[in-house]
Amino acid sequence: MVQRGHKVYEGKAKIIYTTDNPDLLIQYFKDDATAFNAAKKGTIVDKGIMNNQISSKIFEFLSAQGIPTHFERRLNDRDMLVKKVEIVPIEMVVRNKAAGSLCRLLGLKEGMALLSPVLEFCYKCDSLGDPLINEYHIRALHLATDQEIETMKGFTFKINDLLKEFFAKLKLELVDFKLEFGRYKDKIILADEISPDTCRLWEIGTGKKLDKDRFRHDLGEIEEAYREVLSRVSR
Ligand code: ADP
Ligand code: UDP
Repeated sequence: MVQRGHKVYEGKAKIIYTTDNPDLLIQYFKDDATAFNAAKKGTIVDKGIMNNQISSKIFEFLSAQGIPTHFERRLNDRDMLVKKVEIVPIEMVVRNKAAGSLCRLLGLKEGMALLSPVLEFCYKCDSLGDPLINEYHIRALHLATDQEIETMKGFTFKINDLLKEFFAKLKLELVDFKLEFGRYKDKIILADEISPDTCRLWEIGTGKKLDKDRFRHDLGEIEEAYREVLSRVSR
């Protein structure tokens, strides 16, 4: 049995605790929701419980497909045991269709097909609003080595292929998503979470949004959307 230690970090959606094993941390999933660089704040009832389960299922799937992840096991409703990594301060965003900030950036219509997936890098910095950067910024600021960038890019496109198919089987379209990677014993592994907080998922057939856009844009039935995703990934 792993013992919870002290709180090391409280973020917008999760709290991180040490454990009695120096290589492991506990991620506690909260119900707090934020959007637009935390300008909008709220609570989604039981979101933490649902995202812990959804993320766990997805990490299990990706691990089985050969992607190294920080996931050890789900401990209870809200706690996930993970390997302690040094987070690479880059958010890797993949887009299969235009939505969100890409529409604002390039004046595109939401839902416009993209001829090939778009990969964006954002600098993980709350006070700057996670600005869009490119590989030259990463190199110039030494946010990651060239080899780390190549490894993260390789994993990210592989994960996109795997998750597009995983969700399609559940009649969900993976529109876009965000990944974070970390350094663990000199290797790059997938960290953080994959959930309706970090993915856009549209129901195939109806186009219904089953993700955090329901909170961002006050579309209603927010808890129901997360519950629907959980029920599908639990099949
Ligand atoms: P934010 O920091 O954006 O408010 P969260 O509320 O999700 O985000 O907080 C979780 C924090 O823990 C994030 O900063 C994330 O990068 C970090 N994190 C995720 N997985 C790990 C891990 N395995 N080891 C160390 N830190 C992690
Ligand atoms: N995303 C995320 N965390 C962030 C920024 C984006 O999980 O800090 C996810 C978001 O849920 C979406 C994708 O990355 O699935 C692309 O988000 P976008 O850049 O469109 O930002 P938004 O307009 O949603 O703020």
